[in-house]
Amino acid sequence: MESRGTKREAGKIEVAEPRNKLPRPAPSLPTDPALYSGPFPFYRRPSELGCFSLDAQRQYHGDARALRYYSPPPTNGQSPNFDLRDGYPDRYQPRDEEVQERLDHLLRWLLAHRGQLEGGPGWLAGAIVTWRGHLTKLLTTPYERQEGWQLAASRFQGTLYLSEVETPTARVQRLTRPPLLRELMYMGYKFEQYMCADKPGVSPDPSGEVNTNVAFCSVLRSRLGNHPLLFSGEVDCTDPQAPSTQPPTCYVELKTSKEMHSPGQWKSFYRHKLLKWWAQSFLPGVPNVVAGFRNPEGLVCSLKTFPTMEMFEYVRNDRDGWNPSVCMNFCAAFLSFAQNTVVHDDPRLVYLFSWEPGGPVTVSEHRDAPHTFLPPWYVEAVTQDLPSPPKTPSPKD
Ligand code: GDP
Ligand code: MG
Repeated sequence: MESRGTKREAGKIEVAEPRNKLPRPAPSLPTDPALYSGPFPFYRRPSELGCFSLDAQRQYHGDARALRYYSPPPTNGQSPNFDLRDGYPDRYQPRDEEVQERLDHLLRWLLAHRGQLEGGPGWLAGAIVTWRGHLTKLLTTPYERQEGWQLAASRFQGTLYLSEVETPTARVQRLTRPPLLRELMYMGYKFEQYMCADKPGVSPDPSGEVNTNVAFCSVLRSRLGNHPLLFSGEVDCTDPQAPSTQPPTCYVELKTSKEMHSPGQWKSFYRHKLLKWWAQSFLPGVPNVVAGFRNPEGLVCSLKTFPTMEMFEYVRNDRDGWNPSVCMNFCAAFLSFAQNTVVHDDPRLVYLFSWEPGGPVTVSEHRDAPHTFLPPWYVEAVTQDLPSPPKTPSPKD
């Protein structure tokens, strides 16, 4: 944090400097993997601070009501036969993706719990608050060749908040999503329904609806290098039989993937999919990813557990593989870049970090709508030190 103070003062001095001084080039951050291949940086073992749930109407609840229980089929020599297309589209209630929730649910949790945070007084003021999914995108950036991203950043009472902005390209792709891709998204959620039960020790019931408004989110504390982190991520289920029942080590991430038949298909899977699976689960300390492999008819006939800490072994000796150190070093470099860029403490000021594959991360400054993302109910409550948020924040907030 001390570099931030220095930078802020440097910024003030700059104003008084002689006008003949050449303007500084706009700062940017390169993303080439070769620049980030150092030793693995410090990453604190993630600990769970709390959780919250979103119900079928996408309403927030400060409890674990949406947590589901891992309930794989019996291992009696028979292979599973999960029809992932069953119920599509008639028993599908997809979340309205037009609603931009930004950090709102996480901020609602934070408002209720910021008084009881561990780490001592001022811990939050030095922390970065964001979604796990945003950090996942940062981790995979040095290897990403397809999709760019934009992250909005604001500093408020010391804390740096990072909230993703949908890129114009991503918006067009979402609005023109091919029907087969829509069905594929459903199939991922349907797999969860075949593998999870609402209570521990009972069998899954795949007869109901798939409602993607429902979510269980874990709120975690960690630290990358000198960057304290508070982030939340959606968790698929908890394993009642896990060796440790302590979150996040009891959590299981569920994934589906195409059945593979050739060594080339496996190699490509290790290079691309396992990178994303690793990044997503390593961040919150989720120890296992259970994959269901689907055939062209949409049936899952085989399951395989990938321990998160063993995923790198599949690409360790692959010259075109990924390296966890590169991912984490780049993420740490981006967080330093953001800390040094977002110099003004003002919830109405937004620094927009933009990245497209092949280029560096660039930044632009914006004031007020449409870029600001810290909702008035949060800013006002924290400013006035109110103890709790309004019961139901209105959507326009
Ligand atoms: P993930 O790692 O990408 O799944 O994202 P997180 O676990 O960080 O999820 C954070 C919040 O964003 C949760 O409330 C999710 O339900 C929600 N979320 C996850 N994926 C998407 C998405 O593709 N679009 C939108 N709008 N929200 C999402
Ligand atoms: Mg999943």
